[in-house]
Amino acid sequence: MGKVFSDLKTARYGASGHPEAPFRVSRTHERLTAAGHAPSLPSIAATAEDAALLHGEGHLASIRTGAFLDADTPAFPGMDEIALISLSGALSAGSSALAGEASLSLMRPPGHHAGKDRVAGFCYLNNLALAAARLQKTKPGLKIGIVDFDVHHGDGTQSLVLGRPGVSFLSLHQFPLYPGTGGESAGNCLNVPLPEGTDGDRYLRSFEPAFGKILATKPDILAVSAGFDAYKEDPIAGLKLDKTTFKRIGALLAQTKLPRFAVLEGGYSEDLPLLVESFLDGFF
Ligand SMILES: [Zn+2]
Repeated sequence: MGKVFSDLKTARYGASGHPEAPFRVSRTHERLTAAGHAPSLPSIAATAEDAALLHGEGHLASIRTGAFLDADTPAFPGMDEIALISLSGALSAGSSALAGEASLSLMRPPGHHAGKDRVAGFCYLNNLALAAARLQKTKPGLKIGIVDFDVHHGDGTQSLVLGRPGVSFLSLHQFPLYPGTGGESAGNCLNVPLPEGTDGDRYLRSFEPAFGKILATKPDILAVSAGFDAYKEDPIAGLKLDKTTFKRIGALLAQTKLPRFAVLEGGYSEDLPLLVESFLDGFF
């Protein structure tokens, strides 16, 4: 059946004209409720200690005080608390997956560009990498396969999991594009750069063999950075996936029968609610 975690408090901040806008959570929340996937509040409340699993000592404080400079990633009052709510969704989804239920965290801000001491690309805390780290802390020896299908390279995640035992990471992304990395693979991080204009069929022809390499590492659980900005109508990127491609990606992940959870990353088109619903049709 699947479980969705969301908190509408994460739809209460935003900068005028910024693509990472509140509707992404509020309208998707509405749509999923109508589709029978009514979200629950997180079952786990993330703490500063959770953030410190991978981020530097002063990172959360810098989010609170706005002591950072990234043109794409504004400082907002109370942003540390909102970032922790978003992290709570990822931790809850990871825990729910481990208990046997495929799960999605529908929250903002996203996380996959955030590094150890760095906010970047609309991201403050790296929700997915932290959820993976907490799962490994709870269950030592747990092997995690991370799949990032956001149109941008998951550079923050790569920086946090590179060389980490028991983790394999796959990112498919348009290249060249922000953040400019991901042209080549490194260690346990497999990168699949794709040219502008890549459509759904060509995307899946790249996805399947690369995902096969992640499965060859025999993960116990799949952790998915679910970005929907590879969609053909997305305003900030140039791949050409349609709605059904996301369902097919979800189905490829589900057919492994592995425990699995996904965390919302990007996706800036007004169709985002439909894309998330389509993905869940395959993923749950
Ligand atoms: Zn993105």
